Amino acid sequence: GEAKRTGCVVFFNPGIRAQLTRKSTLAQDLRMAIANRQLFIVCQPIVSAADHQLASFEVLLRWTHPELGPISPAEFIPVAEESGSIVELGDWVIGQAIAAAAALLPRAADGRVKVAVNVSLHQLLQDDFADKLLLATSQGFAAENLIIELTESVFHENEIDMVKQVLFRIKQLGVEIHIDDFGTGYSSFSRICQLPIDAIKIDKAFIQSADEKNTAIIEAVVFIAQRLKIRVIAEGIETVEQAQRMQALGVNELQGYLFGKPQLPGTTV
Ligand code: C2E
Ligand code: CA
Ligand code: CA
Ligand code: CA
Repeated sequence: GEAKRTGCVVFFNPGIRAQLTRKSTLAQDLRMAIANRQLFIVCQPIVSAADHQLASFEVLLRWTHPELGPISPAEFIPVAEESGSIVELGDWVIGQAIAAAAALLPRAADGRVKVAVNVSLHQLLQDDFADKLLLATSQGFAAENLIIELTESVFHENEIDMVKQVLFRIKQLGVEIHIDDFGTGYSSFSRICQLPIDAIKIDKAFIQSADEKNTAIIEAVVFIAQRLKIRVIAEGIETVEQAQRMQALGVNELQGYLFGKPQLPGTTV
């Protein structure tokens, strides 16, 4: 089987062995990372393309490992997904995001702060996920100010019925639903139509290389999204030229280092 084969590879290839060791170390240490206060969130502004007014903040998880130093979420989130600790981590992030909204309030123009949280498929498919959101948004923080960002993994054929059910429940609460990293995986417009999606985030790969093909893809996404009354958000905006180009293409909101790096929620700019 798969496990046995992996075992052989580990034995013969020291590079892969080191990788597996790091992975299992991370999986192990993640379990205690919340209790040991090694995790924290940072928040990155998302602005309106038209006037660059603040629209929301995306909440991103950070981990400073005591021996290994800062670990990228691109590395530890997949580990948490595999080892199952993503549920506890993800719930913790939602709580932190809601708490951070108060600290972010001074940076909002209209006395309202929306926070966008990344949610893994496994987390979304917990039996009580919608109940948890209901509880989290029933104590002074409006559900309308919460956004969940889901990757295209929600379109996997096997889970689509369950996903549909939970998303319609979440939508009923007032929570916004965004599709992240659009264009990189399983996206299809017929699937977008079946789910209560408020916005699509175009992956930064399409923005950062401004060739003819990527432009055509962005134009097509904007065209169809407008027809479906779905907003389009472009991420990875680093230059004024990129921002102008995205606005000209009809993108509604922009996110990237040009408008602000991910920062601790209490930081003033
Ligand atoms: P993502 O959701 O696509 O988040 C956007 C990533 O782009 C973030 O990387 C952000 O720091 C980075 N970014 C923002 N602006 C720019 C820019 O102008 N240029 C470039 N080159 N990059 C930019 P980060 O923070 O390393 O997060 C990586 C991924 O880890 C996220 O990608 C998301 O998929 C995942 N992730 C982070 N926090 C969480 C979490 O709490 N839960 C879950 N399930 N996943 C998370
Ligand atoms: Ca995201
Ligand atoms: Ca993204
Ligand atoms: Ca991404």
